[in-house]
Amino acid sequence: MPYRTSVRGLFDALALSRTVNGELEASDVDLGGQVYHFEGPISFEVTLTNAGTGIVAQGSATANVVTPCSRCLCEARLTVEADIDGFYVLPGHDADLPEEQEAELIAEDQSIDLEPAILADVVVELPFAPLHDESCKGICPVCGADRNLEPCACEQPVADSPFAALQDLKLKDEAEA
Ligand SMILES: [Zn+2]
Ligand SMILES: [Zn+2]
Repeated sequence: MPYRTSVRGLFDALALSRTVNGELEASDVDLGGQVYHFEGPISFEVTLTNAGTGIVAQGSATANVVTPCSRCLCEARLTVEADIDGFYVLPGHDADLPEEQEAELIAEDQSIDLEPAILADVVVELPFAPLHDESCKGICPVCGADRNLEPCACEQPVADSPFAALQDLKLKDEAEA
């Protein structure tokens, strides 16, 4: 959902600023099949400052996210904190900017939409392989049991561990040295 706020008056003088506290609703985010559902709105506080070439938005946001645990698929509940960084220019003033400077346009009515910057900065902070608990034992790849609930007696294939391969490498290096 867009979150529009006015920047009227901020252009009266350099370094004028205004702080905006708010909440915005966000839809589910799907990152390569891992779906993150926002539980409640993303809350944020950003300070809008007239930086001369445009309006800088800087602040922080907090979101409560529910997503399947990447090991056992149960619901993982996470609180995500993000630094917010946005930049907004008046139409016609984006030509003078360095090419790598990303900027959004300020609307005719001198309002800006904070949602794209906030959402992008929150999404960057979503963990790639979320765990419902750091000590999650995961699902047994042999029998499919949730090892958090019931230990199973399956022999775990050693090759599953990425460290097994690393260890082989290390031994080889040492032998050569
Ligand atoms: Zn888990
Ligand atoms: Zn098992």
